[in-house]
Amino acid sequence: MNKTTLTLSFPEDIDTAARLIQKGECVAVKTETVYGLAGDANNPLAIENIFQAKARPTSNPLIVHIADIDDIVKWARDIPESAYQLANAYWPGPLSILLKKQPWVSGSVTAGQDTVVLRFPDSQDFIALIKASKAGLAAPSANKYKFISPTTAEHVLTSLNGRIAAVVDGGDAEVGIESTIIDVTRDIPTILRPGPIDDIMLSDTLHREVRYAANLGITVPGSAKQHYQPNTPVFLLSTKEIECKGLRRNEGLISYSSPRLSGHIDEENHLQLSSEPSHYSKRFYDALHQLDKLALSCIYLESTPTTTPWIAINNRIGRVVAG
Ligand code: AMP
Ligand code: MG
Repeated sequence: MNKTTLTLSFPEDIDTAARLIQKGECVAVKTETVYGLAGDANNPLAIENIFQAKARPTSNPLIVHIADIDDIVKWARDIPESAYQLANAYWPGPLSILLKKQPWVSGSVTAGQDTVVLRFPDSQDFIALIKASKAGLAAPSANKYKFISPTTAEHVLTSLNGRIAAVVDGGDAEVGIESTIIDVTRDIPTILRPGPIDDIMLSDTLHREVRYAANLGITVPGSAKQHYQPNTPVFLLSTKEIECKGLRRNEGLISYSSPRLSGHIDEENHLQLSSEPSHYSKRFYDALHQLDKLALSCIYLESTPTTTPWIAINNRIGRVVAG
């Protein structure tokens, strides 16, 4: 695989990007969550290209992106009313909905399962590409398997330059972590991957109980325990442990509170993020990318609170530090 990866920008390059998609190439485009690696979900060659570019095992299913709630029926069958309640409340937005698939949806998108996950992303660039290429777009995050997810075009190039046809530079992803995935085919709607929309919000919308999967996605196909990992080893420490230990010159730190650090701190090694979860999320992957470039001996992550708004972040942190 040795492609020239074009950097495009919309609206000027929309036709170029749509032509690439129609030829079965894959193109990285910003969604509001992270950059996605988009390919025509109906074209087996495009799906193969996505898995190859990411070096992702084909047992990991892909989310299909659509740009119209009415398109749910093209991909899914036996659609419960709850799917429409959620789509009307949160689409376009960071919620992916698992439904029974239409028979013709390729098993290479769904990892051979009878279900398909759909999302209508809140991104002008992505919606424009879906419309111009006249296709549902399968799009996992635009990074190599298990590496840090990308929230800028530069992050995409860090792992996929030369492996994909193009990246559309649309600036920073606004949300910064992946969508919530909810399975509405079960008796009790179940969150398979925690994300920006939490159980309380979903349960308020549906007026019924919503639960988290017992294993929070770890046995869901494709949800490897280790994920989102930089090349530098990352360790989780409490605020107290960080304050007692301090930071050595070649060590990095990502914090959410303002830990009292003694001694000389190299400023570029310490990234102080917000104590407000949605602001923290927006910068989390970027902080990992930034520190990973500094060739540090390790990165410490300050453990964050365990309250509901931090559930999705704690899920990502758990996988970043998983050995
Ligand atoms: P990513 O593409 O990296 O955002 O990950 C997509 C995730 O969605 C996968 O790793 C699965 O956990 C989940 N997913 C997508 N499609 C399905 C499906 N048909 N059944 C179960 N989980 C799915
Ligand atoms: Mg991913």
